[in-house]
Amino acid sequence: MEISHIEHIGIAVKNLDESIKYYENILGLKCYAVEEVPDQKVKTAFFKVGDTKIELLESTNPEGPISKFIEKKGEGIHHLAFAVKDISGSLKEVEGKGIQLIDKEPRKGAEGLNIAFLHPKSTMGILIEFCSDKK
Ligand code: ZN
Repeated sequence: MEISHIEHIGIAVKNLDESIKYYENILGLKCYAVEEVPDQKVKTAFFKVGDTKIELLESTNPEGPISKFIEKKGEGIHHLAFAVKDISGSLKEVEGKGIQLIDKEPRKGAEGLNIAFLHPKSTMGILIEFCSDKK
């Protein structure tokens, strides 16, 4: 399998608007997209940092995965996303090496990317996302 770069870092926040202000006013980054992903019960905001993006995630539902994450661990880094050349092939490859998958097949994520998650139990505690490589 071939990872080209870190596509994005996903960060769980309680309040998207307040968080956008911090990234823009303090860090000087520009939010270039806000998008709701109903499938994952989140509203997302994106910033570019070189080839890598920061994806802020606010839950749109108290039962959603981001709400549960914040309840357990508080706000903070939620997942790390790698851009891979062949997402289906990469999933099969890591599964063959004993890694537990959350998504056996790629699905649609924010920005029209194909995404799939690996289970953090198999990856030393970090929720790993594969994204189809698109710039
Ligand atoms: Zn992500």
